[in-house]
Amino acid sequence: MKIMIAYPAIKGKGSPMLTQNRQFQWMSLGSYIFPLVMASAATLLHRQGHDVIWYDGIAEHLSQDHFFHKIANEKPELIVLETKTPVVKLHWALIDRIKLLNPEIRVVLVGDHVTALPAESLHKSRVDFVLTGGDYDFSLKGLVDALRGKSSLPSGVYYRENGNIKNTGKFSLKADLNALPFIDRELTKAHLYFEKWKKREPFRYTMAGRDCQWGRCTFCSWTNLYPSFRVRRVESLLDEIEMLVGEYGVKEIFDDTGNFPAGEWLKKFCNGLIERGLDKEILFSCNMRFDFLANRPELTDLMKRAGFRKMKSGLESANQKTLDRINKNVRVEQIVEGCRLASEAGLDIQLTVMVGYPWETRDDARRTLDLARSLMARGYAEMLQATVVVPYPGTALFRDAVKNRWIRFEPVDSWERYDMTEPALKTVDMGPEEVMRLCSRIYKSFITPRFVMRQVLGIRTMEDLKYVMRGSRAVIGHILDFARIRS
Ligand code: SF4
Repeated sequence: MKIMIAYPAIKGKGSPMLTQNRQFQWMSLGSYIFPLVMASAATLLHRQGHDVIWYDGIAEHLSQDHFFHKIANEKPELIVLETKTPVVKLHWALIDRIKLLNPEIRVVLVGDHVTALPAESLHKSRVDFVLTGGDYDFSLKGLVDALRGKSSLPSGVYYRENGNIKNTGKFSLKADLNALPFIDRELTKAHLYFEKWKKREPFRYTMAGRDCQWGRCTFCSWTNLYPSFRVRRVESLLDEIEMLVGEYGVKEIFDDTGNFPAGEWLKKFCNGLIERGLDKEILFSCNMRFDFLANRPELTDLMKRAGFRKMKSGLESANQKTLDRINKNVRVEQIVEGCRLASEAGLDIQLTVMVGYPWETRDDARRTLDLARSLMARGYAEMLQATVVVPYPGTALFRDAVKNRWIRFEPVDSWERYDMTEPALKTVDMGPEEVMRLCSRIYKSFITPRFVMRQVLGIRTMEDLKYVMRGSRAVIGHILDFARIRS
């Protein structure tokens, strides 16, 4: 079967940050994160003998007209699109245009929005199948097998039959991640994707697990895709890294598991990197909760020796009542301690914070700003990322927001307004403009003379210089993203 896995250009308020992302944002400066699970789907289908086209019009800066020409030329039988709440209406329009062009093409939607509201897209567009759950690779293979008459539909599929919407029940996440082939980096054009903070090239992504051991934060849209956690064997990830280094000369890796495995798994992984000599070949970064590191100095030292460079972690708020309400299951002191240990071991820490919680006052939000500033000033964190809280459908926060009338607009028909160009939630004593300004101020807050001096003194090589320049452009882009409400 000829299958196109596509991220077509969509017109909006900037470059859509759609792939592999737990939040959506229109960016002033495009950000192209490797969609690991879709890439795994492309690889699996290709291995099954299907003709797979990987098409990313966003990362390749191709127009929507180019996408439709491509469809007309290639004539795929199946097109798969990943969507998120703020752009789901744009995808419905796109699907209807595909069907107008060729009604024979079958279109599939995946993603956290359609997992939360699977029937909606079948009502609102001519999409043929909605696959729920986050195992796009296994579920797409199951769907394709069923379309070829080799099996029945897998669980978690929504479809139409005689004008009625049917489904095959709750999706399953029982498949073994170790059974998947390594992602085909050429088929999926892995060179297009990178983090703005990369230091070395070639830069590539891996994914050790799906998706987070905790998986219960009330705002996190991916808890809905992966309600349970699975992790690959340590050897499987080490083998993949060895392959990336050996075959592609990769020098830096970011593992985009929602929360990198900790404990004995992490120890074994670090020792494996050292034993295989990979600590000398690559810089390795990941997402990690700092409570996993608090009181474990031996772990942060081992990570540094194994080639770890950076860890991204959610501080979210400096107010314990907020951390408790969003079910983060962490104490402010643990975050500070985790940051201290990691930074003292020589690891770079990137913190993410959020503003615009419906129960937080201006003073609460300022407390977060102050803590973030002080962590930066003490050198416990290297970078800060600020976003506005968005209650995505399928999350506990969305349910609470609807129940308590926290959403600033009509909750269900205004999906395009969950795009972070304005706050979606009312706050106690701040207007929407003030929330956006605060977000922008958090970005500006770490650009102190001391911070600038540290960056300048840290420049030793051309790579360092490029990193500082790329980082500066990214920060300016983020400041612009939140400078005002965009329409
Ligand atoms: S710790 Fe991070 S990845 Fe895990 S549920 Fe919370 S926000 Fe999501």
